[in-house]
Amino acid sequence: MDSIGQKIENIKRSGGYRELRYINSAQGSSAVIDGRRVLLLSSNNYLGLCNDERLKEAAIEAVKTYGVGSGGSRLTTGSMALHRELEERIASFKKRECGMVYNTGYMANLGTISGLTDESWTVFSDRLNHASIVDGCRLSKAKFVVYKHCDIKDLEKKLKRYKGKNNLVVTDGVFSMDGNIAPLKDILRIAKRHGAMTMVDDAHATGVIGKHGRGTEEYLGLEGEVDIQMGTLSKALGGEGGFIASRKEIVEYLRHRAKSFVYSTALSPATLATALASISIVESESFSREKLRIDSAWFRAELQAMGFSVPDGVTPIIPILVGDSDLGMEFSRRLMESRIYIPCIRPPTVPKNTSRLRVTIMATHKREELEWALEVLKDLGAELGITRGVGADG
Ligand code: PMP
Repeated sequence: MDSIGQKIENIKRSGGYRELRYINSAQGSSAVIDGRRVLLLSSNNYLGLCNDERLKEAAIEAVKTYGVGSGGSRLTTGSMALHRELEERIASFKKRECGMVYNTGYMANLGTISGLTDESWTVFSDRLNHASIVDGCRLSKAKFVVYKHCDIKDLEKKLKRYKGKNNLVVTDGVFSMDGNIAPLKDILRIAKRHGAMTMVDDAHATGVIGKHGRGTEEYLGLEGEVDIQMGTLSKALGGEGGFIASRKEIVEYLRHRAKSFVYSTALSPATLATALASISIVESESFSREKLRIDSAWFRAELQAMGFSVPDGVTPIIPILVGDSDLGMEFSRRLMESRIYIPCIRPPTVPKNTSRLRVTIMATHKREELEWALEVLKDLGAELGITRGVGADG
């Protein structure tokens, strides 16, 4: 048997060893990392709410009134009136009967999928779904069937072949590493045809797409059609936590069956108050979403014009595909030297030979910051041979 030390050596040899970087400032469009101020071009803080004064005030008020901890799990002494208020607010935001809050988005997927399904179920999951969905499926006793990424034909073929007594089709709304949007209309049509329930992980869509930031359903004009809406409070909403919004009976059942809900200390008052305030901001401030959309479209087009391998898309997640992990790491390191932070995302987070720099735009980025970043990216892309030479100098 390999020792743990040997396993670490193997990780190092395969180039997969990861260092933690520590931020020592508030997070705006820039932050202080390892003692230097750098432009953040990879955060999920899409609307810049992480450091919003209104949210900070809400958190401070909640701490003064309720203290810092919830003191227990939700079914014992941890449920506070603020939990109920937030769950009702999530239900109205996502236009569902009920909301249910988990401590993280990861726990929301884990608890919901494994709590809802048993051996009588088959779960159909997109190949590029988030790891928390995959782990939820693995923890469940259900049969787990993976369909090709966004491939409706493959989904239907597999539904015909593996359909069980109960079925669930689960997909990311916006895929976290590519930023593309799931073909939800077709997925819903096929799922309905085969009597399957549907669940959408809108971690990267909530607050970001749709007129009121309600996510993929709203963006595609399909409101109310998905059975279980999952989302996070940790990305565009600026804080932390996860949730689902669904029919009353599903939430009621999950309160009893979702272990990550039942057996973990409930979210703290500051976190709950922050989320309540951020949902209202997200719903009412469409101008910030619009700025994000415009800046993202422009930034993406500029990168494409420089000859980077960047897919088309409409979200603030803009992957610069590099392929080779070592080259991606070098690109990221050189950017950091120039005070721009974009980590390289490598396997196993993404499939083999698809290492990338996952750029994300935030509504709080200034045009000058983005223009400067484009200049640096252009020069480095040419120097490292990453751009194909289109529009690049060298
Ligand atoms: N789903 C997706 C698609 C995600 O990208 C993430 C976070 N990276 C999660 C779920 C988990 O959310 P959280 O970070 O709140 O645990």
